[in-house]
Amino acid sequence: MTDTLFDQISNRRNDVVEALAAASDRPVQLVAVTKTQPDAALDAILATGQRVFGENRVQEAQAHWQDRLEEFNDLQLRLIGPLQTNKAEDAIALFDVIETLDREKLAAALARACEKLGRSPKILIQVNTGNEPQKSGVLVEELSDLYKCATESYGLNVVGLMCIPPVGEPAGPHFALLKKLADDLGLAQLSMGMSSDFEVAAAFGATHIRVGSALFGARKVE
Ligand SMILES: *Cc1c(COP(=O)(O)O)cnc(C)c1O
Repeated sequence: MTDTLFDQISNRRNDVVEALAAASDRPVQLVAVTKTQPDAALDAILATGQRVFGENRVQEAQAHWQDRLEEFNDLQLRLIGPLQTNKAEDAIALFDVIETLDREKLAAALARACEKLGRSPKILIQVNTGNEPQKSGVLVEELSDLYKCATESYGLNVVGLMCIPPVGEPAGPHFALLKKLADDLGLAQLSMGMSSDFEVAAAFGATHIRVGSALFGARKVE
C-alpha cells in the first residue's frame, strides 16, 4: 500500500507533535510553514486539523489562504518573512500575527495600515540575535528603543519576539538570549525553532515553533 499525501503529512505532523511534547512540558504551538507548498499539501495539512500557518510572502499568502479563509473561520495566519512598507496594508488585512517588525519605518507603516483598516494584529519584533550584517531583524542593542517606539509612539500590539539563529552555529545560545530579552520586556510570545532545531527551541522556552520541511518534506525552491 502506498501512502497518500495526507497519510504522509499526517504522520510527519504526529512525529513533530510527539517530539515537541517530549521536549517541553508546556504547550508549544506548532506553526506549519506553508511557503512554496502546492494546493494538495495545503488541503492535506488542513485535513489533519492544523490551523496555524506561517508564510514568508504577502502575495503567496494571499494566493494560499484568501479563498480558504471563507471555508475555515478558525485559521491563524502568521507572517514570518521580511515585510516591505508598501505591503504593510495587505499584510495587516490578511495576517493575524506579524512576526517580523524590525525597524521604525515599518512600525509607522503598520500603524497607518491598522488605523485605516480598523484591525490590530499581534506583532512580534524580529531580533537579529547573531548581529549578522544583511540579516533581517533589529540589532539586540536597538531592541528596547524599537519596542518603545512601536508601542508608545505607534500603539502597536507587540506581544513577543522572533529570531532566526545564524546558519552553522549552535542555536541554543540564540534561543536563550531571545528568551531573556523577552522576559526583560515582559513579552510572552517567543517564536523560535524550525525543522532542524524546534526541540532545542522548545526546551529554551519557545511558545511557537515554525516548521516547514519536517511536515512537508524538503522544499524544491526557497
Ligand atoms: C522557511 C522558514 C521556516 C521553516 O523552515 P524549515 O526548516 O523548513 O522548517 C521557519 N521560519 C522562517 C522564518 C522561514 O522562512
